Amino acid sequence: MIIVMKPDSTAAEIGAVIARVQEIGASPHPIYGAERTVVAVVGETRKFDPVSFRQMPGVERITFISAPFKLASRESHPDDTIIPLNGVRIGSREIVVIAGPCSVESRSQLLETAHAVKEAGAHILRGGAFKPRSSPYSFQGLGLKGLEILAEAREIYGLHIVTEVMNPQAVPMVAEYADILQIGARNMQNYGLLHAVGRVQRPVLLKRGMMSSMEELLMSAEYILAGGNYKVMLCERGIRSFEKYTRNTFDLNAVPVLKQLSHLPVIADPSHATGRWDAVPAMARAAIAAGADGLMIEVHPHPSQALSDGPQSLKPEVFADLMQQLKRVAEAVDRTLTLPKPEPQGVVA
Ligand code: PEP
Ligand code: MN
Repeated sequence: MIIVMKPDSTAAEIGAVIARVQEIGASPHPIYGAERTVVAVVGETRKFDPVSFRQMPGVERITFISAPFKLASRESHPDDTIIPLNGVRIGSREIVVIAGPCSVESRSQLLETAHAVKEAGAHILRGGAFKPRSSPYSFQGLGLKGLEILAEAREIYGLHIVTEVMNPQAVPMVAEYADILQIGARNMQNYGLLHAVGRVQRPVLLKRGMMSSMEELLMSAEYILAGGNYKVMLCERGIRSFEKYTRNTFDLNAVPVLKQLSHLPVIADPSHATGRWDAVPAMARAAIAAGADGLMIEVHPHPSQALSDGPQSLKPEVFADLMQQLKRVAEAVDRTLTLPKPEPQGVVA
């Protein structure tokens, strides 16, 4: 249910509606739009009586949300959600680029990558400190040491940090270091983890499960929103199919369809979606053309030596070249990607 307040409703009237929703045992989620406030009512709604709410001062009308993902739905929140992060506005006209290695492997590897992606114009640095690996014998990440290295890179290069959190117990620790918490594809339906990130005020990058539908992705986002954390980004990272020449099948359909169904920013990850570096630039360009709000791209200074996901990692020079192409694609679809000005090459007298 959505209680749509009149454009001139007062804070006291909105407060009374919120209190009344709480009285009947439901959860109110006020959404303060540019023109008006709406109060989404979720949870225990059996005692919700539309007529009595309709009569409250300041209420214009009551509408019903047909989608099962009530708070994630565009029906409840027609405006795009924009997640501000110190100068970066995720979900705005400006495309946001997240780049970095799959795993933090060492201080020198991460700092070298951070330097390169910053120079190329990336806004956010990625790197896994806790890695969900298919084999228990594969590199599992540097753990806390990896988080410390990420924090150092943030200090030096002024990049925001996104890193994966794998279990609810680790959320407070990872949230201490990371600007954005990543929920990996394998954990998209780890409901304990979704509850835990719903309770912290850190933006969340929620990756689509490799065998999950868009609706399941949106329902997982709903868990986080219902917990009170409204800063959620949806990430399309490819789904499993019968195709063998790529690691996953990039569901480009998901980009425009998720944008239509939901107000949450949509980020595309062409690295995991393809599994091969030579396909990443084309799919990155396609994602921006399709309306993605941002990209997540794996970059490694020496992909052949990477401890994880080397075959899909771009070398820094390929990434820098791609950023120039993405700027042009962004502009062609009425978006922007502001790149740093190149260093002056010296003046010839
Ligand atoms: C990753 O981002 O490195 C990762 C493990 O991604 P996914 O959860 O999409 O497989
Ligand atoms: Mn990876």
